[in-house]
Amino acid sequence: MNYSPAFLEIDANAIRHNLQYFKSKLQGKTKVLAVIKAFGYGSDAIEIAKIIQNDIDYFAVAYCNEGVHLKKAGIKTPIIVLHPQKENLAAIIDYNLEPSIYNISILKNMLRLAEEQKLTDYPIHIKFNTGLNRLGFSRDQIENIFSLLKDNKSIKVVSLFSHLVASEDMNERDFSLLQISKFENIAVTFERIFGFLPDMHMTNTSGILNYPKAHFDMVRLGIGLFGLANDSKQSKYLKNVLTLKSVISQINQIEIGESVSYNRALIADHQMKTATIAIGHADGINRKLGKGKGFVSINNKRATIVGNVCMDMIMVDVTNIDCKEGDEVIVFDSQETIEELAKISETISYELITAISQRVERKIIN
Ligand SMILES: *Cc1c(COP(=O)(O)O)cnc(C)c1O
Repeated sequence: MNYSPAFLEIDANAIRHNLQYFKSKLQGKTKVLAVIKAFGYGSDAIEIAKIIQNDIDYFAVAYCNEGVHLKKAGIKTPIIVLHPQKENLAAIIDYNLEPSIYNISILKNMLRLAEEQKLTDYPIHIKFNTGLNRLGFSRDQIENIFSLLKDNKSIKVVSLFSHLVASEDMNERDFSLLQISKFENIAVTFERIFGFLPDMHMTNTSGILNYPKAHFDMVRLGIGLFGLANDSKQSKYLKNVLTLKSVISQINQIEIGESVSYNRALIADHQMKTATIAIGHADGINRKLGKGKGFVSINNKRATIVGNVCMDMIMVDVTNIDCKEGDEVIVFDSQETIEELAKISETISYELITAISQRVERKIIN
């Protein structure tokens, strides 16, 4: 039994198509890591993993439990945990997950556990900060890392990585190029000190498209899998993956002077017909879409959201739309609509799709 009549359709063929599109941008040997953190960008991480596991080299998630969830579902592809906490390192080892090591404390704790458990060559990934100032070591910490890793057989550094600050913004091209050269420089230093160079990776979706020279040995594909590329010129080569739907629960006739929804946000100045839709802010409909700003689609016509968005419902203006209770309502079914709703919500596609709450049922099609 479902929690609500709203559901999110996930198009498996569109995901496969999008993955192939990004692969077509790569040199033959470049590996692909699919980032499926935050429930697979608000979709369904396990289902997405099953669809693409044989066509990629790595998965990444943000936190340990996201990786545990995938392992418990039987996913065999290696999984990087991008943002582990030291409290989770034991579980990371138990579940054969591969931690990103981003500071000295995480590194020391990981080494201690690996030695205690007498592991050999346990794979770890080292994160470098080249400008985002979020997670990662700086170049001048390499000597420090070296002294900790020297002669240590319990772990093995399998990749070095960094993250671009503004890969989608061509006005910041110079900064991105500076980050790329900083990363290359870190790799040169690493190789000189350690005597080997593991896989290097730096690009997310927009980085893959805009900075081919930064593909190195592997790319990290996230939102692009869902057909969203932060660039409408690129999105048109991609297929839309996510469709959010619900139904009309009730139609109301509104007389002049009557109001609709909480706090009387709409007072009718003409006779109106409204439809109450079974989806609200608890399902991920941003409240900024209320009061005439956002819209849904009913029988191929746009219906504006009127009044305030409620927790479980929205009311839309269907004065000029032929519709009845039980009819299907489409919140979005294209990249353009996702981008448009994100813009009206004063946010980005990433937040719009990851906000779709777990109350909304997921359905895989194709
Ligand atoms: C989320 C994330 C990505 C994926 O970014 P997209 O823009 O969604 O492709 C890649 N790398 C890191 C470190 C991330 O946190």
